[in-house]
Amino acid sequence: MKIHEYQAKQIFKKAGILVPEGDVATNIEKAISTSEEIGLPVVIKAQVHVGGRGKAGGVKIAKTPEEVKKFAGEILGMDIKGLTVKKILVGKAIDIQRELYLGVITDRSTNRPVIMVSTEGGVDIEEVAKKTPEKIHRFTVDPAYGLLVHHAMNLAFKLSSDVKEVREIASTLQKLYKTYLDSDASLAEINPYVLSADSNFYAIDAKIVLDDNALFRHPDYEEMRDLTLEEKIEHEAKEKGLSYISMEGNIGCVVNGAGLAMTTMDVIKHFGGKPANFLDVGGSSDPQKVKNALHFLLMDEGVRAIWFNIFGGITRCDDIASGLLEAVGEMEIELPLVVRLTGTNEEEGKRILSESSLDIHFVRNMEEGAKAAIRLSEGGG
Ligand code: GDP
Ligand code: MN
Repeated sequence: MKIHEYQAKQIFKKAGILVPEGDVATNIEKAISTSEEIGLPVVIKAQVHVGGRGKAGGVKIAKTPEEVKKFAGEILGMDIKGLTVKKILVGKAIDIQRELYLGVITDRSTNRPVIMVSTEGGVDIEEVAKKTPEKIHRFTVDPAYGLLVHHAMNLAFKLSSDVKEVREIASTLQKLYKTYLDSDASLAEINPYVLSADSNFYAIDAKIVLDDNALFRHPDYEEMRDLTLEEKIEHEAKEKGLSYISMEGNIGCVVNGAGLAMTTMDVIKHFGGKPANFLDVGGSSDPQKVKNALHFLLMDEGVRAIWFNIFGGITRCDDIASGLLEAVGEMEIELPLVVRLTGTNEEEGKRILSESSLDIHFVRNMEEGAKAAIRLSEGGG
């Protein structure tokens, strides 16, 4: 789960990392009152779950009350990489001397946390990794020992030769690592970590990605959830026992099992089509699940055709067919349906569907299914 910068800053602050004073606002009035409390100049920052807000015009420094009003108005409602800005952070602007990068990520190849630091803060770290990889310094943490003082000092010496600064950076690295561990994050990042003109270090940006699988251990993080429409559908589907994955195409797919989901996507792509989403109804036999699946699938307005690709094992084809009929009866589905039912109670399932008045395109195998779904999604008969 991604959280906003202002939320990550609250967590950093609790861990003892210095962050500029500030508050979140959803309207211009609140932005103005906050700027009066903390004093000008302030930085106004879009709170959306994407990086590169600075370049997109979502980070602006206001030096006068008029500018606070102007920039807050411009940034609220702004579209950044497809996301609408509904919240802004109004923070004390820092006079920057140097920008550094500090981060902790979970490295899947070593199964360990890796600390990364660089003198090239403030810019996209992936770009630095590509163009000047020698400017990124890494340290793989042995979780049995954690990040010890001398590890942190070694890293900090890559960023500064001033011992006082090195101590400060090392201390922040240890706090960052502890935050990453305590919050069960998969990423905790400060980019940039800045040295101000008056020689203090501040986290002026903050990013934490929480591991969904550990969220049950942090009930207090639940209120930080801020989902896009797509993520909302995925989340709701999960609560109903379905796994839903949204994509950009126009063929909605109902399948049973993750392996079949992957194969269905591959086959559609192989024949030149684009899946819109996947709904995995899993291995159960429950008509209600099929109804729920269609409900979620139809929330995606890009869907032009639906393909039921079911391999009946534990899942019974007749149950899928009944669920489909019930759902169609209630929902008025106008989209073309392609159905491949094979396995347990296959004949019974097909009989139920063919006795209905639905316009169903029965197919016998994956290739036929993919071709039919693609043709229909493109408006063919
Ligand atoms: P991002 O673009 O989404 O990563 O947003 P950041 O919070 O990292 O801000 C982008 C850039 O804006 C930073 O690298 C800084 O150069 C600049 N910036 C952000 N806050 C301040 C501030 O308080 N003072 C100054 N002078 N620049 C800032
Ligand atoms: Mn940043």
